[in-house]
Amino acid sequence: MPVESSMLILENFIRGSFVPNEGLGFIDSYDPSTGEVWAKVPDSGEVEVDRAVLAANNEFPRWSSKSPQERASYLTKIADLLEERLEDFAIAESRDSGKPVALAKALDIPRAIHNFRFFASAVQHYLSTSSYNEQLGALNYVHRSPVGVAGLISPWNLPLYLLTFKIAPALAAGCTVVAKPSEMTSVTTWMLCKVFQDAGLPAGVVNVVFGYGWKVGEALVKHPDVPLISFTGSTAVGQRIGQVSAPHCKKLSLELGGKNAAIIFDDADLDKVIPGCVKSSFLNQGEVCLCSSRIFVQRGIYDEFLQRFREATKQYKVGVPTDASVNMGALISEQHRDKVRGFVMLAESEGAVIECGGAETPDHIPESHRNGYYLPPTIITNVSDTSSCMQDEIFGPVTCVVPFCDEEEAIARANNVKYGLCAVVWTRDLSRTHRLAQRLQVGTVWANCWLLRDLNMPFGGSKASGVGREGAKESLDFFTESRTICVKM
Ligand code: NAD
Repeated sequence: MPVESSMLILENFIRGSFVPNEGLGFIDSYDPSTGEVWAKVPDSGEVEVDRAVLAANNEFPRWSSKSPQERASYLTKIADLLEERLEDFAIAESRDSGKPVALAKALDIPRAIHNFRFFASAVQHYLSTSSYNEQLGALNYVHRSPVGVAGLISPWNLPLYLLTFKIAPALAAGCTVVAKPSEMTSVTTWMLCKVFQDAGLPAGVVNVVFGYGWKVGEALVKHPDVPLISFTGSTAVGQRIGQVSAPHCKKLSLELGGKNAAIIFDDADLDKVIPGCVKSSFLNQGEVCLCSSRIFVQRGIYDEFLQRFREATKQYKVGVPTDASVNMGALISEQHRDKVRGFVMLAESEGAVIECGGAETPDHIPESHRNGYYLPPTIITNVSDTSSCMQDEIFGPVTCVVPFCDEEEAIARANNVKYGLCAVVWTRDLSRTHRLAQRLQVGTVWANCWLLRDLNMPFGGSKASGVGREGAKESLDFFTESRTICVKM
């Protein structure tokens, strides 16, 4: 796959073949590290979605009747091929999204490989339940069948990682797929289509239509032959998908935005907290839905924490993504960079203190990359809980630090946002950890760590952060329909 060539021209992947872009316009896909166009993404629409759904629908009876073991063997083959091409995929993911190549190599692509291996195994241990009821004199058991054509829509921040977290369980469960990655980061999904071909995946099992969300995504959500939609992205688009799909009574899985709290108690081990908070605030340029953007620090350690956190953040190096020594690359787009800047400038105008970072491109970014979308990691203090930067999802390298007095106050303030994705608690007190974990209104609580993921565990958000969960059992449940069968003995 020529990922280093000057301009990539992507094609839709339907019924096992790349489809020439006859009559289609293109969407420019920018390399965020330089601000230059590096790929052309087909601007597809309803016609291409119809063709893809037809292909997936035609293949569904054959794919769904294969045994879990047979389906698992394809997933394993896909994982092996991805692993062989890890380097190419990591370079492409970095060029498409602006993240450091080293991060794509260590996180994004390995996790995509793991997604396929994990669900290849999980589906073989996914057993249906049965029970004999003495009173009724009846045996009940549950049969699970794949739902049909799965519509999968994913965002730009962890492109291959998140889309494969949908494709792998959908295929393992026996669904066929029409997928739509973000129009800003479509390249690695296009490369994955070649892996599907090389793995011998039957034509029509996975189809990919590239293009805008409001065209391709919405056509998929409206399509009568797509009975389920798995979506990861913003809360606003998730709400729209809920509205548009309602007349069809579709199964929906919605993984949406976050405004996550980290809560640091005065007994916490600051030697672990400081690197932990730097990572949870700024990994992937702060463009992870799980990033901490509200850091509550108990008053007794507030000054020490702030001083050490500021120093460590200043060491977190932003730069050109191919430089192996950088921690952060460029933000996804000019528009997004300006939005993140806007939050910092608004906070400043409201009297907040910018402890480090700010709204300007760092001076050390070389001339060759000055048109890229770089911002420094930024810490903001002296903000009220009702301010925009404490309530709204910024989705960039910006975090707020505020003091608190006691446990009750920390819980109330952490819960005081419309989102409910995750929280991090830093303390050595085990009882307190459990007390907080039970009262924080989120889908995941990490204690003294962040982003450790066991795919056996359910993952998802509460409140405006989503509907449904993904994970070994949860994803396989989602992509299958249960049927209870009751036999009178
Ligand atoms: P987005 O909602 O703008 O786009 C996500 C996907 O939806 C893209 O493929 C887009 O083309 C498509 N889309 C847009 N409009 C659509 C429509 N009307 N119908 C169907 N599809 C449509 O999100 P984004 O900017 O790509 O990603 C950032 C957001 O994703 C943040 O809010 C972040 O928190 C969230 N996110 C959540 C999780 C999670 O697991 N909860 C993980 C990663 C990102």
